[in-house]
Amino acid sequence: MNGSGRFAELSVPTHWQAVDVISDLHLQAAEPATAQAFFDWLAQPAGGRADALFILGDLFEVWIGDDVLDAPSETCPEAPFLRRCADALSRLAASIPIYFMAGNRDFLLGPEAARRCGMTLLDDPTVLDWSGRRCLLSHGDALCLADTDYQRFRREVRSDAWQADFLAHPLPVREATARSLRERSEARKREHGHDASLWADADDGETLRWLRQADAPTLIHGHTHRPACHALAEGRERWVLSDWDLDAAPPRGNVLRLDRHGRLQRLPLKPA
Ligand code: MN
Repeated sequence: MNGSGRFAELSVPTHWQAVDVISDLHLQAAEPATAQAFFDWLAQPAGGRADALFILGDLFEVWIGDDVLDAPSETCPEAPFLRRCADALSRLAASIPIYFMAGNRDFLLGPEAARRCGMTLLDDPTVLDWSGRRCLLSHGDALCLADTDYQRFRREVRSDAWQADFLAHPLPVREATARSLRERSEARKREHGHDASLWADADDGETLRWLRQADAPTLIHGHTHRPACHALAEGRERWVLSDWDLDAAPPRGNVLRLDRHGRLQRLPLKPA
């Protein structure tokens, strides 16, 4: 949100027909099938492409600072994989614009990495304004109000002070910190059991408040890994993106396409 208390807005060029929206790929070298699906999808011929790609967070499993892109693999074993991701994104960015909103895993992805990937950074949330047809985009974690521990953690790690302190450490120290934060979050998930329905979900009241403020009928978000379309009061809707896990049985991953008429459609990763 900017200083005036209004959400950030992005005006869509009038000639655009459709945009593709994805989130929660959690890219990491340790999950090559998902990474390969992403590379293949990025390299698809231009024919089936939308006019832009919107990535709503958690593109990467973890992001410990933009300087990873220049780190030797001895210092940071993940660096060559992340460079490959950046190269693949920047190749697509040569033909269509790519917008990136940070998630809770990759909130440290900053201007330098965005530039290397050919991505434009977006605030969370941002209103897409398509000739007056409006749609609100968010990662979604800020809406999961029932998880008060997480919201406290989120405020802490999103503060300038925490980030400056974290980024001042050498890469191997940051890697270790990120690993322990992830282990903490996994342990909390185990406490709640593996039943995803018990984890906090986007709060309907807060979602409605956001949609009214955005003057938009539709919210698109990720984060919860529970793809669905929820009807809300006042004729509004909450669309949840799928995460990508090509090693799961059955494999998960799709793309949500929003067209100029406000229609939403889930597309498989491979054209039929
Ligand atoms: Mn997330």
